[in-house]
Amino acid sequence: MDTGIRGKTALVCAASKGLGRACARALAREGVSLTICARGTSALETTATEIRAEFGVEVRTVAADLSTPDGRAAALAACPDPDILINNNGGPPLGDFRKLTREDWLRAIDMNMLTPIELIKATIDGMVARRFGRIVNITSGTVKAPMPQFELSNGARAGLTGFVSAVARQVVQHNVTINNLLPGLFNTDRVASAFPAIAKSRGVSTEQVIADRLKNIPAGRLGDAAELGNACAFLCSAQAGYITGQNLLLDGGAYPGLL
Ligand code: NAP
Repeated sequence: MDTGIRGKTALVCAASKGLGRACARALAREGVSLTICARGTSALETTATEIRAEFGVEVRTVAADLSTPDGRAAALAACPDPDILINNNGGPPLGDFRKLTREDWLRAIDMNMLTPIELIKATIDGMVARRFGRIVNITSGTVKAPMPQFELSNGARAGLTGFVSAVARQVVQHNVTINNLLPGLFNTDRVASAFPAIAKSRGVSTEQVIADRLKNIPAGRLGDAAELGNACAFLCSAQAGYITGQNLLLDGGAYPGLL
């Protein structure tokens, strides 16, 4: 399928690794020029070099913390009028909700709710004026099925989801859509690095922790980041203009509900 977005520009947040990187790669494959951001320069430049070599598109890099006003300003200076915005960020820490401080909450809300909202605010009017825009927020399966220990994520991402729902319906008449991708368990650095720590705290092997998690995933495996990237590219396609305000769960069938 020709997704019809060759020559468009995308700002892809938190894209040196994992799910953000997979979205950047999938968009580059469709001929989209990229600005990709992350805090560290090493993985960011490696990802940019690989994408340029593989797909032949322009890739700008911005090394910045997107949770800060200066970081967002740097990203928007490099890509002031994106046709496509992929909102992504690091995830908040897990832990007992009783131990979470006000500062923990403010940081999580800043990272996973207010940062994407600020980037949407800064870019959406240009999309409306050009009569094309695609915004995809990477949130989490915990939006549909909140999990214990994930309270910072549960709360902040629910806030973003509520904001997006009403805004999406205000701009779709201008061919600007906003949708959320809800990953279940994907095989990224973040997840791979969490397993040994969980294993240590439970006194079991890493293999045991992974086997236990897979019991709850009907697909019987972790997700591949490229699968989420491909879903992202489709939501950004010309053909997806009638899909907006949706929460697309990619979890190998783990969520058991009908809707
Ligand atoms: P990952 O493999 O650790 O990659 C995270 C990326 O975000 C890296 O490129 C990282 O680069 C960048 N980043 C982190 N904080 C940033 C910041 N403040 N400003 C700019 N860039 C930043 O993580 P992932 O697994 O792809 O997860 C991405 C998001 O999806 C997270 O919010 C996570 O909670 C959520 N999620 C993931 C899964 C999963 O199974 N993987 C499931 C549910 C939800 P630097 O460190 O260099 O900045």
